[in-house]
Amino acid sequence: MKVTFPHMGTIDSLLSDLFTRLEIDFLVPPKTSTKTISLGARYAPEFACFPLKVNIGNLIEGLDLGADTVAMVGGLGPCRFGFYAEVQNRVLRDIGYDFEMIVLEPPAIGMKIFLERCRRLAPKKSLWQIFQAVRIGWKKAVAVDEVEKRVLQTRAFERKKGDTTRAHRRALKVLSEAVTAEEIRSAREEALAIIDSVERREQDSLRVGIVGEFYILLEPFVNFGIEEYLGNEGIYLERSVYLTDWLNPGGKKPVFGTTREKIHHAAEPYLAHFVGGEGQDTIGHIVEWAREGFDGIIHFLPFTCMPEIIAKSIFPKIDRELDIPILSLVIDEQTGRAGVITRLEAFIDLMRNKRKKRLVAS
Ligand code: SF4
Repeated sequence: MKVTFPHMGTIDSLLSDLFTRLEIDFLVPPKTSTKTISLGARYAPEFACFPLKVNIGNLIEGLDLGADTVAMVGGLGPCRFGFYAEVQNRVLRDIGYDFEMIVLEPPAIGMKIFLERCRRLAPKKSLWQIFQAVRIGWKKAVAVDEVEKRVLQTRAFERKKGDTTRAHRRALKVLSEAVTAEEIRSAREEALAIIDSVERREQDSLRVGIVGEFYILLEPFVNFGIEEYLGNEGIYLERSVYLTDWLNPGGKKPVFGTTREKIHHAAEPYLAHFVGGEGQDTIGHIVEWAREGFDGIIHFLPFTCMPEIIAKSIFPKIDRELDIPILSLVIDEQTGRAGVITRLEAFIDLMRNKRKKRLVAS
């Protein structure tokens, strides 16, 4: 058995660590590229959401390199993510691939179900051994996300361009070498210290929140690396979701540092019920950041994404009442980086002018 899986942000580091602990033979597909996207777009249904197309491209590349088993995260709730595994299964079989699909239902559905699915990948391990591997691997995955969050908050202030990105690479290397819980704990401290050691300059940065559909937020290739672009423009960033926040059972967002309950409470005056995916969280985070005085919001959604379309329809009311500019960027296989950057440049000018006016008025 050789297992492959689709990319999504830092999931390759989480699954590589887990599979190594469980002695599962695995193959990380090549990083997402334009070739991946064109493969996915060629074979996926035309109106499928964009992340499904990219996932299919990843899996084709993994299966072509010799994998014979696909591990896919399951989903719940009223959005199409819950059907991804089944659609991928059918599309890949239709084009001639022969493989086994194992759906890892998220721990939120039930820890026992999750562990039993993992056991299909590691039949020689006991449920207890799998639980221990997940428990320790999870600590490392959270640390990887914490480092990513610190990077977003640091890049805007770096004195020398590129220092934060270089520090990020060094920090990830330190974390990747940690195995035991104790090693992970000290690697986390060291990794965060590496990011904190980046030389800073004083500057009055715009503060921007990034929200939207989780896959687009987490996968830098499909969002055109805009976090790095905005950081290089001297903009302080907060992102609404990290991989371990999204996977975490119990509604806590350990990396962002809040709970879904609190975010949904903030969303309540505008959207009082779950609409699938991150729709309600999108509204809640915007409301919180508007109250904290952020200069603007960048919202990402894949073409045809139902939860984010619902959220987007509420933005004019939020803007009127809370006075916060929001830029929505719709992403699919036709979207080009140049168009996205042009819109971002205009949005940055708008936020700078708005801030100047506010300072003059005060
Ligand atoms: S959140 Fe949107 S893009 Fe993501 S799976 Fe659901 S419908 Fe598709």
